[in-house]
Amino acid sequence: RELPGDPESGPGVRQVYGAAYSRTLPTPVAAPRLLAHSAEMAGILGIGEDDLAGSEFAAVFGGNALLPGMDPYAANYGGHQFGHWAGQLGDGRAITLGEAVTAAGERWELQLKGAGPTPYSRSADGRAVLRSSIREFLCSEAMHHLGVPTTRALSLVGTGEAVVRDMFYDGHPQAEPGAIVCRVAPSFIRFGNFELPASRGETGLLKQLVDFCIRRDFPHLQGDEPARHAAWFGEVCERTARLMAHWMRVGFVHGVMNTDNLSVLGLTIDYGPYGWIDAYDPDWTPNTTDAGRGRYRYGQQPQVAYWNLSRLAGALSLLIPVEALQDGLRRYVDTYNAAEAEAIAAKLGLRDCAEGDIERMQRLREWLQTHEIDMTIFFRALAEVDVEAEAPDPAPLAEAAYDSDKAAAGAPALRAWLADYAARVRADALPAAQRRARMHAANPRYVLRNYLAQQAIDRAEQGDLGGVHELLEVMRRPYQDQPGREAFAAKRPDWARDRAGCSML
Ligand code: AMP
Ligand code: MG
Ligand code: MG
Repeated sequence: RELPGDPESGPGVRQVYGAAYSRTLPTPVAAPRLLAHSAEMAGILGIGEDDLAGSEFAAVFGGNALLPGMDPYAANYGGHQFGHWAGQLGDGRAITLGEAVTAAGERWELQLKGAGPTPYSRSADGRAVLRSSIREFLCSEAMHHLGVPTTRALSLVGTGEAVVRDMFYDGHPQAEPGAIVCRVAPSFIRFGNFELPASRGETGLLKQLVDFCIRRDFPHLQGDEPARHAAWFGEVCERTARLMAHWMRVGFVHGVMNTDNLSVLGLTIDYGPYGWIDAYDPDWTPNTTDAGRGRYRYGQQPQVAYWNLSRLAGALSLLIPVEALQDGLRRYVDTYNAAEAEAIAAKLGLRDCAEGDIERMQRLREWLQTHEIDMTIFFRALAEVDVEAEAPDPAPLAEAAYDSDKAAAGAPALRAWLADYAARVRADALPAAQRRARMHAANPRYVLRNYLAQQAIDRAEQGDLGGVHELLEVMRRPYQDQPGREAFAAKRPDWARDRAGCSML
């Protein structure tokens, strides 16, 4: 257990050497109340409706009580932030309660985010506001239903306490309602968990952590070292590549791809100032802190992941020969290229990505960018274009345009692109129903548009959770047209233009 520390800097805030985690208890809150939960995640964990309704659930997932066997801890990790080594970071506001093993034998770690200070909180309070907690809760589940690897969210619990944050009003910091998300994943281990011991020359600890990670999360990797370690790094590279291809396919922008925010399991982790592409723009970032440089902009994400893997490779060079690490990085490139090609074929409704299709997609992307076209609406509607026509009518795509003048200026180029595309589709000769199904499975109708999340947050801050529940419900079936829910698939309204996803906290 951590001893109570200096009240100025929190309970035992310090550098932790020679250890991958510290035992830490959640700090109780005034009035924990369950605000929302994921029925699917509760089902996986065997948590019934009765359990959810009881006061014990809110107490445990608000940080006021522990269940038998829970032994909470905060993980120790470092990271490269915005390109620079930042030293020790650690779980400053996340506390893992324990690991649940389901009847099916799956292992899930349960982690509270916002449950109070830990030895890694540095100068911050260890808490989370309702606003950012709703964003993490909704997006975790939305990503899962989109088929994107991600940490999950079990619950959203209001704390009944206020948290002071940087939302300025009349020049004063605002007190906002606090909340705690219980996030769930087989593991929350990040690249930074390995970088920190490596940076300190703690080779024994580094090896212990790699072996633990392989034993628990990559049990299929057997054999002797260093080959087993090398195979593991290769798989981390491959999973990361697949993740990047998914983000690019659905238009997700993480916003803070520091190495402490990349999972070695290839899961989307740490939902902060993330955002979704509306008008297609590879240079867009939702992170206001990064808007000038755009290090983590949409179009840059696959390159940043490679850079991050190179930092991980640097850390692992204490254990793995450099040639094997280079092989792993090549595997990233190969896997990403293959996954991107597959995404291109699926989004365009083709059997495979053949000669010329990458350029075909690139021309389309440039057109979408130049003419301010909504990415999600466009690709969904592309399945409605009549490709049997020599010169297809672009009418089904009209609703994707944000600026009618720009769209009108782009009309001839679009017609030309569609004629070429339709010829390609006809030559491909995939039966129409199959083609449509393939496109609809790769091009979501619903994504968690920034302004939709914000509207749900605004209502929640007034005490009405209806918007959160409704949005969660819509996002459960993102690839299905949901009659009566057209508004959730609509273009971002004008008032929400250029709004950032969120600030860093
Ligand atoms: P992030 O940019 O969210 O990945 O956070 C970077 C580091 O800051 C991590 O070590 C977090 O745990 C820590 N951190 C972020 N917000 C807080 C907070 N409110 N209290 C304590 N630590 C925090
Ligand atoms: Mg983080
Ligand atoms: Mg964060």
